Amino acid sequence: MTRQGLLIVISGPSGAGKGTICQGLLKKNKDLCLSVSCTTRPVRPGEVDGVNYFFVSKEAFEKMISENELLEYARVYDNYYGTPLNFVEEKLSTGQDVILEIDIQGALQIKQKYPKGVLIFVVPPSLSLLQERLTKRGTDSAESINKRLQCVCDELKNTQRYDYLVVNDIVDNAVAQVESIINAERCRPANF
Ligand code: 5GP
Repeated sequence: MTRQGLLIVISGPSGAGKGTICQGLLKKNKDLCLSVSCTTRPVRPGEVDGVNYFFVSKEAFEKMISENELLEYARVYDNYYGTPLNFVEEKLSTGQDVILEIDIQGALQIKQKYPKGVLIFVVPPSLSLLQERLTKRGTDSAESINKRLQCVCDELKNTQRYDYLVVNDIVDNAVAQVESIINAERCRPANF
């Protein structure tokens, strides 16, 4: 029996550890693939175009919107972020499971287009730990960290709209929880 590919959305406040969880998942599960988003935000030190994101101009992004090349998109912290449609459709059609690491606005668009999409929200064990992680990461200014922390409280109100909530206390445990969710979703009769 062939199974349709699963669309797995992972969201959560920045600093919650979504990226680390996704990397852990991909390392252990070679059958999963990660969608690389397009963004208009500047490249951070250490980031590589085409690996972390496709870094594009605002004009190029708006062209993609008008030509329906994005599965979903959102404005996050004054920049555009979006998921290239072709890549995801191609993978799903061949039965491959795709992970999207996107914000809540995008997650809700996905649920509308793909009701079978699995929405997972990752939270840090506490807000003070989140602040500590963002400061330690050293990629954001104090102003940007404050802006992000302000948004977190609003984001947390939306967790009820997700299918699963994973508390990222110990990364390996969080990765194992997400793996269990994916494995269970793979067994749903509706996905065959
Ligand atoms: P960052 O700038 O820290 O890489 O990402 C900022 C936020 O944008 C994060 O919450 C991240 O999940 C979200 N994001 C990244 N790519 C996409 C995307 O393609 N679509 C949407 N809607 N959000 C995204």
